Amino acid sequence: MKIMKKIFFMAATALMLCACDNNNQVKFTVTRSFDCDVLVVGGGPAGIGSAVCAARHGAKTILAERGGYLGGMATAGLVAPFMSSTTPDGKTMLIRGFYEELVNRMEAQGGAIHPLNAQIGSFSAYRDKGHHGLTTFDYECLKRTTEEFCKEAGVELLYHLLFVKADTKGGKITGAYFATKDGIWKITAKVYIDCTGDGDVAFQAGAPYVYGDGEGDIQASSLFFVVRGVDWKAMDAHNEACKEADDFEGQFYMREIIEAREAGEFPMWRQKIALFQNLDGTATVNMAQSDGVDGLDPKQVTDAEVDGRAQAAIIVKFLRKYVKGCENCELASTAEQLGVRETRRIIGEYTVTTEDAKNSVKYPDPVFCCANHMDIHRKGYVEYVARNTNDPYYFPYRALLPQKVDNLLCAGRCAAAERPVMAAIRVIPPCFAMGQAAGTAAALAVSSGCGPKQIDTGQLISTLKADGVYLPE
Ligand SMILES: Cc1cc2nc3c(=O)[nH]c(=O)nc-3n(C[C@H](O)[C@H](O)[C@H](O)COP(=O)(O)OP(=O)(O)OC[C@H]3O[C@@H](n4cnc5c(N)ncnc54)[C@H](O)[C@@H]3O)c2cc1C
Repeated sequence: MKIMKKIFFMAATALMLCACDNNNQVKFTVTRSFDCDVLVVGGGPAGIGSAVCAARHGAKTILAERGGYLGGMATAGLVAPFMSSTTPDGKTMLIRGFYEELVNRMEAQGGAIHPLNAQIGSFSAYRDKGHHGLTTFDYECLKRTTEEFCKEAGVELLYHLLFVKADTKGGKITGAYFATKDGIWKITAKVYIDCTGDGDVAFQAGAPYVYGDGEGDIQASSLFFVVRGVDWKAMDAHNEACKEADDFEGQFYMREIIEAREAGEFPMWRQKIALFQNLDGTATVNMAQSDGVDGLDPKQVTDAEVDGRAQAAIIVKFLRKYVKGCENCELASTAEQLGVRETRRIIGEYTVTTEDAKNSVKYPDPVFCCANHMDIHRKGYVEYVARNTNDPYYFPYRALLPQKVDNLLCAGRCAAAERPVMAAIRVIPPCFAMGQAAGTAAALAVSSGCGPKQIDTGQLISTLKADGVYLPE
């Protein structure tokens, strides 16, 4: 029996070794192949916008996602609400097009509040400094409605596919490889859109990029969680009383946090409470934080997730003891994925500069505009970069195009913008807008028989406008 076991172990070891040669190169057989016009990798806000808009414009589109549903950080990361999509006064929608269509459908299903209907002091606009025009939404409604939009447009959804490698030839991607339970799957396309947030496709295809500040500094990450049992009447009463007394520290329980820290009850860096009211009466909490985590390193991400869950339990105890209205709150759920704010950003055919956004510089190829503030999340606090005007600022098409790779677009958190600008436009509504632009451009490239760098940008802009995108002159 012992000899049999030994023979079996030796045979298994030999099989494993066959898969790995001396150069640490693993050889796998492709078990399934697909072909399409447009391949979108990553099903977050940018990927959803990209896939739906590419398919609506006639491209045979596949959306490959590593998880089992759409939404990216907005669902798997429990990030909520959708940040501002309006002018700074909250009165005019700037991000319209597909984003507004989605919000309207979710609102009709009872799963969102349109940002123009959100009231300061309640629901999505709970905090009234710099947070106008937020969109409270229901996570499940977002998962369901985005799948509806994909189905209606004819997008082929492939979940549980982790992109791992790209083949390139002559500055073009010639195939994308995905790790699956079934082995390695290959997808070929005319145009590829990287919506992984981390620029995984661009990186594997050899596109130049910047990581964090370019010198190793990276924004803090946060594990979001949801609590139930909050008494919102009591929360609101405290909020209003502090506002009337002009007591900012009181409004955000900053003194209590210091007191709890001194008592060893709040061993974290957060200085303020941050609870956002959800439609079902629960609260999304953005208070657990990890500093210096490399979102591209699974080991570091794992450690931060484990630590984030431990922090969540401590924060709930703090809320119950110190925060009016939270005396009976309980932890409902923690996010499946750590909220990583920053990793790679491509260097684009144009990279949006901080000065551009500060001064609302105009471009010949704008694809959306917004007014989100530039905020860099540091250990325990947020650093704001002031703008010189309240006018909306623009995002040019060229910032979706990576240098050195011809048939690739990058939308969402990995697009080309200097750090403070990306800190603003990485929020959910602009990511949907970037996706709409990338998907529409990809379909235009396919129908014109050219690459995304050769399309007629005038035609792109008129198509986006016809599809509801707001681009004031
Ligand atoms: C802590 C935190 C708090 C935030 N708070 C807010 C907020 O309150 N409001 C707001 O509007 N925005 C907020 N944001 C910003 C916003 O959530 C993200 O920046 C936004 O979701 C980015 O969209 P995206 O589509 O580029 O990427 P993501 O939302 O990250 O989506 C990327 C998708 O790609 C998939 N993917 C990644 N790699 C691969 C791969 N190799 N193969 C296959 N699939 C892959 C992922 O599973 C995911 O579904 C927050 C972000 C963080 C991290």
